[in-house]
Parts: sequence; C-alpha cells; structure tokens
Amino acid sequence: MASAKWGSFGSSLKLDRGSFLAYFMGGIVPLIALGAVADRYALSPFAEAAKDDFAIGLIVLVGSICLLSLGSFLMLRRLVQQTIRQSHLLAYYDSLTGLPNRKLFTDRLEQSLHQARRSDRLVAMCFLDLDGFKLVNDTLGHSAGDRMLREVSERVMNCTRLSDSIARASSEESSVAVSRLGGDEFTFVLNGIARSDDAGIVADRVLNAIRKPFVLEGREVTASASIGIAVFPHDGEDAETLLRNADRAMYWAKGRGRNNYQFYAESMNTAAKRKIELEGRLRRALDDDDLTLHYQPMRNAEGTTVTSAEALLRWEDPDLGPISPAEFIPVAEETGLIVRVGEWVLRTACAQAQAWQEAGYRPIRMSVNLSGRQIRRTTLVESVDRVLRESNLSPAHLELEITESTIMQDDDVTLEAFRELDEMGVGLALDDFGTGYSSLSYLRRFPISRVKIDRSFVNGVPDNKDDTILVAAVIAMARSLGLAVVAEGVETREQADFLRDSGCDELQGYLFSPAVPAEDFARFLEKEKPGHEPDPTGTP
Ligand code: C2E
Ligand code: MG
Ligand code: MG
Repeated sequence: MASAKWGSFGSSLKLDRGSFLAYFMGGIVPLIALGAVADRYALSPFAEAAKDDFAIGLIVLVGSICLLSLGSFLMLRRLVQQTIRQSHLLAYYDSLTGLPNRKLFTDRLEQSLHQARRSDRLVAMCFLDLDGFKLVNDTLGHSAGDRMLREVSERVMNCTRLSDSIARASSEESSVAVSRLGGDEFTFVLNGIARSDDAGIVADRVLNAIRKPFVLEGREVTASASIGIAVFPHDGEDAETLLRNADRAMYWAKGRGRNNYQFYAESMNTAAKRKIELEGRLRRALDDDDLTLHYQPMRNAEGTTVTSAEALLRWEDPDLGPISPAEFIPVAEETGLIVRVGEWVLRTACAQAQAWQEAGYRPIRMSVNLSGRQIRRTTLVESVDRVLRESNLSPAHLELEITESTIMQDDDVTLEAFRELDEMGVGLALDDFGTGYSSLSYLRRFPISRVKIDRSFVNGVPDNKDDTILVAAVIAMARSLGLAVVAEGVETREQADFLRDSGCDELQGYLFSPAVPAEDFARFLEKEKPGHEPDPTGTP
C-alpha cells in the first residue's frame, strides 16, 4: 500500500542542501578569498614584502571573481527554481492546510481512474462537508475557523491511512488521497480498492475522528460532518460525474440528520432533478404571488371556541398540481428561498389576523411556522418587528412555531433571537413535540410557552397503550413546567375526549377542520360572535 504524501508550504521554505551550497559558493567562499587577497596585498603591514607573491595574488583574485560569478549564477538559479516551486504550490495546493487543491485533486482523480480502468479496481470518491461550520466562523471568528479546518485536515489524513485489512483485501497500488476543495469541503479518494464497503469503513472512521472535541479560543467545540460517496465505475466513469454524485450523496447525508455518510444511489438523481424543478417553479410562484395560506383552527379542550389559527402554506403549480409543504418546504430551506417564503407567510398571516379583528371578530392567536434557516438569519427579530408594525397586530396575538430540530441547534444566535422575540411579547411554541430528541433542559432554557404534541402520538390514542402512556406523561410534564399543551392531528371524538381528560389545553385536527381558506375560517369566528349559540358537541 502506498500512502499518498503531499508536500506543504512549510517544507518548501526550508534551506535545503542545494540552496545552502549555492549561497555558500556564491557568497561566502568568494568573500573569504577576496578578504584573504585584500589582507595580503593592501592591508597587511608587510604589503611591500608581499610583492613577490603577486602572481599568486592575481590567481586568487581571478579565482575569487570566477567563484563569485559561479556562485551568483547558482544563487540566481536557485531563486528561480524556488519561485517556480512556490507558484506551483500556490497553483496546486491549498495554502491553509497544505493539501492538494481542487485542480490537483481533479488531475489525480483522472489519473487514478485511468489506472483503475486497466486494473479492474474500484475508486471511491468521498466528499466531506462539515456540519454547521459557518457557525464556528460567525461565533468564534475566522482564525478559529481556520484552525479548525487545519485540524480537520490532519484528522482526515490520520484516519484515512488504509487499515491493514482493507489494504490486504485490496491491491498493492491502493492509496488514499486527501484534498481540500475550498471552504469546509474536503475529499478523500480511495484508489484501487476491491469492495465499495471499504469506503464506508473509512468514512465511519473519519466521522468518529471529527466528532472528537476541538479546542478553539479556549473553548471546547464539537463538530460533525456529512460524507457522500460515489464509486467508480458504478456511479460515474469520469471525475466530474463522480464528484457531482458524491456531492449529491453528501447533501442526502445532510438531509438525513447530518453526521453520517451515504453512498450515492440513482434515486438521488431523480430526487435531485425534482428538487431543481421545484426550486425553479417555487421561485416563479413567489414572483407571481401564486402561494396561498390556509388556516387551521386550534380549539379549546372542550372544542367550543377557536383559540388560534395556524397558517399553513398551500401551493398549486399549474402543471404539477398541488404540492405538499412537506415536499417544498425542505427545498425552500436548502435553496435559501425559505427566507423570502417565510417573510411572505409572516406578512400575509399577520395582515389576515388584523383584518379579522378589524372585521369585528374576537381576537385569536395567529400561529406561524418558522424554519430553522429563518431563525438563524440575523434579521429575523427585525423582520418580525417590522411586520407587526406594518400590520398593526399586537405581538401578543402572534405565536411562532419552531420544531425540535431547530431548538437542538442550541446556539447563541438562536437563543438570543428567541429571547428578543419573547421580550417583544411574541409567543413561541415547540411544534411536532416528541419527534426529535429535545431534552427537558431545552424547554427550560428557551422561552417556550406551548408544546404541540406530534400527531404520530395522538394517532395511537386511546387504543395504543404506549402512545396513551406517553401522551399522558407529556401533558403532565409540560403542565408541571407551566407550559400549555396542544394536541395535533386529532381526528376522532375518542382522541379528543381522552386528551381533554388528560389535561390537554387545546386540540387541533381534522375532527374540527383541516386548514381552510381565510374566508371559510371567518365562518368559525362568525359562529362565535355574540348571538350565535355555541355547538354543544364541540364540533363546528
Ligand atoms: P405542522 O406545522 O406540524 O402542521 C400540521 C400539519 O398536519 C399540516 O400539514 C396539517 O394540514 C396536518 N394536519 C392537521 N390536522 C391533521 C389531522 O387531523 N390529520 C392529519 N393526518 N394531518 C393533519 P401540512 O399543511 O401539509 O404542513 C406540513 C408541514 O409543513 C407543517 O407541519 C409545517 O412544518 C410545514 N409548513 C407548513 N406551512 C409552513 C410555513 O408557512 N412555513 C414553514 N416554515 N413550514 C410550514
Ligand atoms: Mg406547525
Ligand atoms: Mg406539527
């Protein structure tokens, strides 16, 4: 097994033997010789007596001049060589980590593929991207970020040396080449392996190495990475295709909760094409004002009064038909479009809530879903504030729903944004509660006033024993923490009765109504206007 060894900038600047000889010959030797001549014929008090040795002096002088010229020539040659070497390093190596850059990586990958074609071996192209690296740069500064990248490169180098078992199963020419493509993107290519599974073993080792804490600015920082793997020849015959497919697999890994690796699969291609198509169409829908909001009521536990309207996005593409938010919201998040979408939702929902109040309906809460990406935008608080002012809606009538995965990011930016919103008087609800891994400490740290039990648990109530125990426990726990509880996805009367008896504060689900257009929602409010008899069954 030949492990790849890359040069680095540090070593190129050392005074090697050649340079030393050049400087010695070019500078020091002639100087000593000239010094000796000067001493003998000019400075010496016996200069007169030395006239006899004139011939020897001349020879030394001429010799020194020759040596000086030769030395200068050698020195000049050395300088030119070093400059060429330096520009070569700049062109082919990354100056931060000393790893090969994208250009050299591509050249070497092409070479590896050429060899693999002849030897019938596999080449695994692994694409690594750090999870949430931007946050390190944003919170600890760029020099901490640089240090982290250097350490990541060392860790990747250390654990990509092929283990003996892989090397034995593979060929003598097996090797690993690590490169940095830019930013927080690294690649490691396993050349000449016998089984694609070997790439999974190495990727796992890399993930473990990156999970070990980094010490930056005196703080322990934990990190993780997502890795996509594309294997030659199945997943691509050329460097460009392999890189693209490994990149795609890496995004897949990010989508599956980060901190994992994924092998490329053809289905990712289909999914990626659909995503690209959705992105284009969603952009157009935004420009053409083709998105709409529907509103789903939340009711008190008895089901007699509407407590809130949850704004839910609806999009019907002229060619593709209705597209579920569960499909297009992740696309909007990945592409950054969610920021525009989110602002539009917030503006429309707040304006609607105010319009209902102005139409004389009893004020209710307007619940708006927020995606993680929106929250990490530094302008979130500002834009909520602006929208509230523009719409004239009181902050007390707005509640933002965030999911557990968002709160799990647990970074200072998110916490600070939540605190500011809380101070403004805007409510915060934890959506889809129970689907993530949020610990109770998050509920205390973050200014949350309400949890919404995910419908997957409500679904099994009251027949499924486990779900029933869990839902009852969540309600009791939330209440003891002083939080209000909403149950989502209530579809049957039995569920509603059980939830009410267990102490749930509010219910939401098809039993009462799906999300409906604003005009239809107004009818629920109309029924609650003084003079209307409330429905004794609790069903509108
Ligand atoms: P969510 O916030 O948990 O919204 C509840 C989802 O459950 C909605 O799906 C709603 O239609 C559905 N639902 C409500 N009651 C029932 C029921 O009784 N049975 C069943 N089977 N389903 C019920 P929808 O509208 O498809 O939205 C899905 C998700 O998309 C939402 O989950 C939310 O996370 C996201 N989403 C929707 N609108 C927005 C938005 O404006 N911004 C963001 N960031 N996310 C949104
Ligand atoms: Mg929600
Ligand atoms: Mg939910």
